[in-house]
Amino acid sequence: MKSRLLRAFLILVLLLPLSCVGPAQSDRLVVLATVLPQADMVRQVGGDNVEVIVMVPPGQDPHTYQLGISQMVKVSQAKAYFILGSGLDFERTSLEKIKAQNREMFIFNTSEGIEIEGNDPHIWLSVTNAKVMVQNICDGLKKIDSDNADYYQSNCDRYLDEIQTLDDYIRDKFDGVDENKQYFLVYHPALGYFASEYGLTQLAIEEEGKDPGFDRVRIIEEARAHDIDYVFVEPWLDPSKARVIVSELGAEIKVLDPLPESYIEGMKDITDLIHEELAS
Ligand SMILES: [Zn+2]
Repeated sequence: MKSRLLRAFLILVLLLPLSCVGPAQSDRLVVLATVLPQADMVRQVGGDNVEVIVMVPPGQDPHTYQLGISQMVKVSQAKAYFILGSGLDFERTSLEKIKAQNREMFIFNTSEGIEIEGNDPHIWLSVTNAKVMVQNICDGLKKIDSDNADYYQSNCDRYLDEIQTLDDYIRDKFDGVDENKQYFLVYHPALGYFASEYGLTQLAIEEEGKDPGFDRVRIIEEARAHDIDYVFVEPWLDPSKARVIVSELGAEIKVLDPLPESYIEGMKDITDLIHEELAS
Protein backbone atom coordinates (compact mmCIF):
# COMPACT_ATOMS: atom_id res chain seq x y z
CA MET A 1 0.00 0.00 0.00
CA LYS A 2 2.63 2.42 1.08
CA SER A 3 4.89 1.66 -1.88
CA ARG A 4 2.00 2.02 -4.34
CA LEU A 5 1.21 5.45 -2.96
CA LEU A 6 4.86 6.35 -3.17
CA ARG A 7 5.01 5.21 -6.78
CA ALA A 8 1.95 7.24 -7.67
CA PHE A 9 3.47 10.24 -5.99
CA LEU A 10 6.74 9.79 -7.85
CA ILE A 11 4.96 9.53 -11.19
CA LEU A 12 3.06 12.69 -10.39
CA VAL A 13 6.26 14.53 -9.48
CA LEU A 14 7.96 13.35 -12.66
CA LEU A 15 5.06 14.38 -14.87
CA LEU A 16 4.52 17.74 -13.23
CA PRO A 17 7.33 19.66 -14.93
CA LEU A 18 6.23 18.32 -18.31
CA SER A 19 2.68 19.53 -17.88
CA CYS A 20 3.93 22.94 -16.78
CA VAL A 21 5.76 23.59 -20.02
CA GLY A 22 3.05 21.82 -22.00
CA PRO A 23 0.79 22.94 -24.84
CA ALA A 24 0.32 26.56 -23.79
CA GLN A 25 3.90 27.37 -24.73
CA SER A 26 4.44 25.19 -27.75
CA ASP A 27 1.30 26.69 -29.30
CA ARG A 28 2.94 30.08 -29.44
CA LEU A 29 4.71 31.22 -32.56
CA VAL A 30 8.41 31.62 -32.00
CA VAL A 31 9.59 34.80 -33.72
CA LEU A 32 12.93 36.59 -33.68
CA ALA A 33 13.74 40.29 -33.39
CA THR A 34 17.14 41.97 -33.39
CA VAL A 35 17.09 44.44 -30.48
CA LEU A 36 15.03 44.83 -27.28
CA PRO A 37 12.80 47.82 -28.17
CA GLN A 38 11.92 46.15 -31.47
CA ALA A 39 11.19 42.86 -29.64
CA ASP A 40 8.81 44.84 -27.42
CA MET A 41 6.96 46.09 -30.51
CA VAL A 42 6.56 42.50 -31.75
CA ARG A 43 5.32 41.44 -28.31
CA GLN A 44 2.80 44.30 -28.17
CA VAL A 45 1.28 43.30 -31.52
CA GLY A 46 1.68 39.53 -31.16
CA GLY A 47 0.38 39.41 -27.59
CA ASP A 48 -0.08 35.94 -26.11
CA ASN A 49 0.24 34.29 -29.50
CA VAL A 50 3.97 34.85 -29.85
CA GLU A 51 7.17 34.04 -28.04
CA VAL A 52 9.68 36.74 -29.02
CA ILE A 53 13.37 35.95 -28.92
CA VAL A 54 15.75 38.92 -28.99
CA MET A 55 18.98 38.25 -30.89
CA VAL A 56 21.15 40.92 -29.21
CA PRO A 57 20.80 40.10 -25.49
CA PRO A 58 20.28 42.82 -22.84
CA GLY A 59 23.42 44.79 -22.03
CA GLN A 60 25.24 43.85 -25.23
CA ASP A 61 26.49 46.35 -27.80
CA PRO A 62 24.58 45.69 -31.06
CA HIS A 63 27.56 47.04 -33.02
CA THR A 64 29.93 44.36 -31.75
CA TYR A 65 27.79 41.47 -30.50
CA GLN A 66 28.19 38.21 -32.41
CA LEU A 67 25.58 35.46 -32.66
CA GLY A 68 26.08 32.77 -30.01
CA ILE A 69 25.94 29.00 -30.62
CA SER A 70 23.35 28.67 -27.83
CA GLN A 71 20.96 30.89 -29.80
CA MET A 72 20.82 28.42 -32.70
CA VAL A 73 18.13 26.20 -31.11
CA LYS A 74 15.65 29.06 -30.94
CA VAL A 75 16.62 30.20 -34.43
CA SER A 76 15.79 26.76 -35.80
CA GLN A 77 12.36 26.84 -34.07
CA ALA A 78 11.44 30.29 -35.34
CA LYS A 79 8.62 30.90 -37.78
CA ALA A 80 9.78 34.40 -38.68
CA TYR A 81 12.55 36.92 -38.11
CA PHE A 82 11.64 40.60 -37.92
CA ILE A 83 14.89 42.26 -38.94
CA LEU A 84 15.72 45.94 -38.47
CA GLY A 85 16.99 46.12 -42.04
CA SER A 86 18.74 49.41 -41.31
CA GLY A 87 22.35 48.23 -41.64
CA LEU A 88 23.05 47.50 -37.97
CA ASP A 89 26.39 45.64 -37.55
CA PHE A 90 24.79 42.61 -35.87
CA GLU A 91 22.57 41.96 -38.87
CA ARG A 92 25.41 42.60 -41.29
CA THR A 93 27.56 39.95 -39.59
CA SER A 94 24.92 37.43 -38.48
CA LEU A 95 21.88 37.52 -40.76
CA GLU A 96 23.29 35.05 -43.28
CA LYS A 97 24.23 32.59 -40.50
CA ILE A 98 20.73 32.89 -39.04
CA LYS A 99 19.13 32.29 -42.43
CA ALA A 100 21.37 29.28 -43.05
CA GLN A 101 20.19 27.77 -39.76
CA ASN A 102 16.51 28.00 -40.73
CA ARG A 103 15.72 28.14 -44.44
CA GLU A 104 11.94 27.94 -43.87
CA MET A 105 11.80 31.05 -41.76
CA PHE A 106 10.02 34.17 -43.04
CA ILE A 107 12.13 37.33 -43.05
CA PHE A 108 10.23 40.59 -42.56
CA ASN A 109 12.01 43.90 -42.90
CA THR A 110 10.60 46.23 -40.21
CA SER A 111 12.27 49.28 -41.78
CA GLU A 112 10.42 48.91 -45.07
CA GLY A 113 9.16 52.36 -46.03
CA ILE A 114 11.59 54.15 -43.69
CA GLU A 115 14.27 56.40 -45.12
CA ILE A 116 17.69 55.53 -43.69
CA GLU A 117 19.50 58.83 -43.02
CA GLY A 118 23.27 58.97 -43.37
CA ASN A 119 23.78 55.22 -42.80
CA ASP A 120 22.37 55.62 -39.29
CA PRO A 121 20.95 52.23 -38.24
CA HIS A 122 19.18 53.49 -35.05
CA ILE A 123 15.79 53.86 -36.74
CA TRP A 124 13.67 52.92 -33.69
CA LEU A 125 14.67 56.14 -31.89
CA SER A 126 12.24 58.07 -34.08
CA VAL A 127 8.60 57.71 -33.06
CA THR A 128 7.51 58.27 -36.66
CA ASN A 129 9.70 55.34 -37.69
CA ALA A 130 8.34 53.26 -34.81
CA LYS A 131 4.82 53.63 -36.19
CA VAL A 132 5.98 52.26 -39.55
CA MET A 133 7.84 49.42 -37.84
CA VAL A 134 4.75 48.44 -35.84
CA GLN A 135 2.64 48.43 -39.01
CA ASN A 136 5.23 46.23 -40.77
CA ILE A 137 5.27 43.85 -37.80
CA CYS A 138 1.47 43.67 -37.86
CA ASP A 139 1.46 42.88 -41.58
CA GLY A 140 4.07 40.15 -41.05
CA LEU A 141 2.19 38.47 -38.21
CA LYS A 142 -1.04 38.51 -40.20
CA LYS A 143 0.79 36.84 -43.06
CA ILE A 144 2.19 33.95 -41.03
CA ASP A 145 -0.94 33.52 -38.85
CA SER A 146 -3.93 34.74 -40.85
CA ASP A 147 -6.42 32.98 -38.53
CA ASN A 148 -5.58 35.58 -35.89
CA ALA A 149 -5.43 38.59 -38.19
CA ASP A 150 -8.17 40.48 -36.29
CA TYR A 151 -6.38 39.94 -33.00
CA TYR A 152 -3.11 41.35 -34.36
CA GLN A 153 -4.88 44.28 -35.97
CA SER A 154 -6.62 45.29 -32.75
CA ASN A 155 -3.37 45.00 -30.76
CA CYS A 156 -1.67 47.05 -33.44
CA ASP A 157 -4.33 49.80 -33.33
CA ARG A 158 -4.15 50.00 -29.55
CA TYR A 159 -0.34 50.15 -29.55
CA LEU A 160 -0.23 52.80 -32.29
CA ASP A 161 -2.54 54.92 -30.12
CA GLU A 162 -0.10 54.55 -27.23
CA ILE A 163 2.81 55.54 -29.48
CA GLN A 164 0.84 58.61 -30.59
CA THR A 165 0.39 59.58 -26.94
CA LEU A 166 4.16 59.15 -26.51
CA ASP A 167 4.77 61.38 -29.53
CA ASP A 168 2.52 64.08 -28.01
CA TYR A 169 4.39 63.76 -24.70
CA ILE A 170 7.78 64.27 -26.36
CA ARG A 171 6.59 67.16 -28.55
CA ASP A 172 5.13 68.86 -25.50
CA LYS A 173 8.49 68.61 -23.71
CA PHE A 174 10.60 70.09 -26.49
CA ASP A 175 8.09 72.59 -27.79
CA GLY A 176 9.47 76.08 -27.39
CA VAL A 177 12.97 75.05 -26.30
CA ASP A 178 15.25 78.03 -26.84
CA GLU A 179 17.31 77.78 -30.05
CA ASN A 180 20.59 78.10 -28.17
CA LYS A 181 19.58 75.31 -25.84
CA GLN A 182 18.65 72.63 -28.34
CA TYR A 183 22.09 70.93 -28.27
CA PHE A 184 22.90 67.71 -26.40
CA LEU A 185 26.11 65.68 -26.24
CA VAL A 186 26.32 61.92 -26.63
CA TYR A 187 29.29 59.61 -26.83
CA HIS A 188 27.80 57.30 -29.46
CA PRO A 189 25.59 58.94 -32.12
CA ALA A 190 22.43 56.89 -31.60
CA LEU A 191 19.99 59.79 -31.35
CA GLY A 192 20.18 61.38 -34.80
CA TYR A 193 16.60 60.43 -35.74
CA PHE A 194 15.33 61.55 -32.35
CA ALA A 195 17.08 64.90 -32.67
CA SER A 196 15.86 65.66 -36.18
CA GLU A 197 12.30 64.68 -35.27
CA TYR A 198 12.10 67.10 -32.35
CA GLY A 199 14.17 70.00 -33.64
CA LEU A 200 17.25 69.23 -31.49
CA THR A 201 20.92 68.93 -32.41
CA GLN A 202 22.97 65.91 -31.45
CA LEU A 203 26.68 66.49 -30.83
CA ALA A 204 28.58 63.19 -30.81
CA ILE A 205 32.09 62.34 -29.68
CA GLU A 206 32.23 59.16 -31.72
CA GLU A 207 31.50 59.01 -35.39
CA GLU A 208 29.27 56.09 -36.36
CA GLY A 209 31.26 53.01 -35.38
CA LYS A 210 34.56 54.86 -35.06
CA ASP A 211 36.59 56.13 -32.16
CA PRO A 212 36.90 59.88 -31.73
CA GLY A 213 39.50 61.27 -34.11
CA PHE A 214 40.73 64.80 -34.83
CA ASP A 215 37.16 66.06 -34.79
CA ARG A 216 37.16 65.59 -31.05
CA VAL A 217 38.68 69.03 -30.49
CA ARG A 218 35.97 70.66 -32.57
CA ILE A 219 33.20 68.76 -30.77
CA ILE A 220 34.59 69.69 -27.38
CA GLU A 221 34.75 73.35 -28.37
CA GLU A 222 31.20 73.19 -29.61
CA ALA A 223 30.01 71.52 -26.41
CA ARG A 224 31.77 74.21 -24.35
CA ALA A 225 30.17 76.92 -26.45
CA HIS A 226 26.78 75.51 -25.47
CA ASP A 227 27.66 75.17 -21.77
CA ILE A 228 27.41 71.39 -21.90
CA ASP A 229 28.90 69.76 -18.81
CA TYR A 230 27.78 66.14 -19.24
CA VAL A 231 27.99 63.39 -21.82
CA PHE A 232 25.35 60.72 -22.40
CA VAL A 233 26.81 57.22 -22.68
CA GLU A 234 25.26 53.81 -23.26
CA PRO A 235 25.09 51.39 -20.32
CA TRP A 236 27.58 49.02 -21.97
CA LEU A 237 30.23 51.62 -22.88
CA ASP A 238 33.69 50.84 -21.52
CA PRO A 239 34.20 53.77 -19.07
CA SER A 240 37.87 54.07 -20.04
CA LYS A 241 36.77 55.13 -23.53
CA ALA A 242 34.93 58.17 -22.25
CA ARG A 243 37.57 59.13 -19.69
CA VAL A 244 39.55 61.46 -21.96
CA ILE A 245 36.48 63.39 -23.01
CA VAL A 246 35.25 63.58 -19.46
CA SER A 247 38.50 65.08 -18.22
CA GLU A 248 38.92 67.45 -21.17
CA LEU A 249 35.38 68.74 -20.89
CA GLY A 250 35.02 68.40 -17.15
CA ALA A 251 31.88 66.49 -18.04
CA GLU A 252 29.71 64.30 -15.91
CA ILE A 253 28.80 60.89 -17.32
CA LYS A 254 25.08 60.23 -17.62
CA VAL A 255 23.73 56.87 -18.70
CA LEU A 256 21.13 56.86 -21.46
CA ASP A 257 19.86 53.51 -22.75
CA PRO A 258 19.05 53.50 -26.49
CA LEU A 259 17.88 49.86 -26.27
CA PRO A 260 15.13 49.91 -23.63
CA GLU A 261 13.18 46.74 -22.92
CA SER A 262 9.94 48.72 -22.93
CA TYR A 263 9.88 50.99 -25.96
CA ILE A 264 7.41 53.56 -24.66
CA GLU A 265 8.83 53.78 -21.12
CA GLY A 266 12.36 53.91 -22.50
CA MET A 267 11.56 56.73 -24.92
CA LYS A 268 10.00 58.70 -22.06
CA ASP A 269 13.17 58.19 -20.00
CA ILE A 270 15.34 59.39 -22.90
CA THR A 271 13.09 62.43 -23.34
CA ASP A 272 13.20 63.32 -19.66
CA LEU A 273 16.99 62.89 -19.47
CA ILE A 274 17.64 65.15 -22.44
CA HIS A 275 14.98 67.66 -21.44
CA GLU A 276 16.44 67.98 -17.97
CA GLU A 277 19.84 68.88 -19.43
CA LEU A 278 18.41 71.34 -21.97
CA ALA A 279 16.42 73.08 -19.32
CA SER A 280 19.27 73.47 -16.85
ZN1 LIG B 1 24.43 52.33 -31.84
